Amino acid sequence: MKGNPIAGSVRALLALVSLFLLVACGENSPTSGADAKPSITVYSSRKEHLIKPLFDLYTAKTGVAIRYITDSAGPLIARLEAEGASTPADILMTVDAGNLWQAAEQGLFRSLESPTLSSNIPAHLRSESNQWFGLSIRARTIVYATNKLSADELSTYEDLADPKWQARLCLRTSKKVYNQSLVATMISSLSEAKAESIVAGWVANLATDPFSSDTTMMEAIAAGQCDLGIANTYYFGRMKKADPDLNLALYWPNQSDRGVHINISGAGVTTHAKQPEAAQALLEWLSSPEAQGQLAELNQEFPANPLVKASDEILAWGDFKADNINVEAAGRLQAAAVRLMDRVDYR
Ligand code: FE
Repeated sequence: MKGNPIAGSVRALLALVSLFLLVACGENSPTSGADAKPSITVYSSRKEHLIKPLFDLYTAKTGVAIRYITDSAGPLIARLEAEGASTPADILMTVDAGNLWQAAEQGLFRSLESPTLSSNIPAHLRSESNQWFGLSIRARTIVYATNKLSADELSTYEDLADPKWQARLCLRTSKKVYNQSLVATMISSLSEAKAESIVAGWVANLATDPFSSDTTMMEAIAAGQCDLGIANTYYFGRMKKADPDLNLALYWPNQSDRGVHINISGAGVTTHAKQPEAAQALLEWLSSPEAQGQLAELNQEFPANPLVKASDEILAWGDFKADNINVEAAGRLQAAAVRLMDRVDYR
C-alpha cells in the first residue's frame, strides 16, 4: 500500500524531468539539436554547504544542472584514476595546491585555454599549464593566546624555531597537506637546509604532540596548553564566530620579507570530461566577480579574483602582505617537504 504512491510519484517525477529536458531541448535548438542544456558532474572535496549555494545559483541562471559527490581529496583522486575514461566527473574541486598538483601529475586534468580564467585568477594561483585554478585563498598564519603574549613578541615563521618558544608551541600533524605545502614553500624560498633547521626548531619547541586538526590545536592554545601555533585563517574565523571573546588572535608573519603563506581551494576540468565546454564555463563563472564574493565568504576565505573584496568579517583581521610564490611549489616540493619533516621527527 505504501509502495504504490511512492512509485507513482517517482514515475511522475521522471515524466516531469523528461518533459523538462525535452522542453529545454526544444527551446534551445532552433538551428541544431545539439543545444540541450548539459549536466555537469563535479567531484568535490569541498563540503556540500560550501558549494551547493553557488551551484544552485548557476543552475538557476543557466539551466545547467550540476551533480556532485563530496569526499576527501585522496579518495576522489583515486576514484578518478580508477574510473579512467569512463569517469562521469567533469570537474575535480579540492583544496590545497599540493592536492591539485598531485591530480595534475596523475594526468587527471586537461589544460584549458581560457582568457577569462587567465585574467580572473592571478598566475601564482593557478598551474603553469592552466590545468587547475585557485578559486579562493586561505592564509596559514600564526595564532596566539592573547592572555599569554602580545603581537610585538612575534615576527616570522622562522622565529618560532627560537628557543624562547620552548614548550610553548603547538602544531598540527605533518601528515596534513597544509603543513606539507607550508614547508614546501619554505624550501623553495629559503633552501632545504634552512627550512630543515627551522622545522627542527619548531619540533624542539613543541609543548605537546602535534594535533589532528587546526581546530583542536587552537582549542589547546585557548585552554593554555601552549601559547601559539600555525593555523588556516578560516578555522580561526569559525571559532571566533562561535565565541567572539575567545582569547585567540591572528598574527601576520614575515611582513618585511616574503609575506604570509597562502594556499588555495581550486578546481580543474578532468581529462575525460564528457562536458568539457560546460565544465569550463562553470569554472569561468566561479572565477567571476559575480560568484567570487559568495564563494569566498561561505568558508570565510579570501577571493582569488583580485577585483573582488573580501567580506567585512575577514577584512577585520587586518591587511597583510601575502607570499606571492607560485603555489605550484607546494606540489613540486611536497615529497621533499615530507622527507624533511620525517628527518626532524615532526610527526
Ligand atoms: Fe581545511
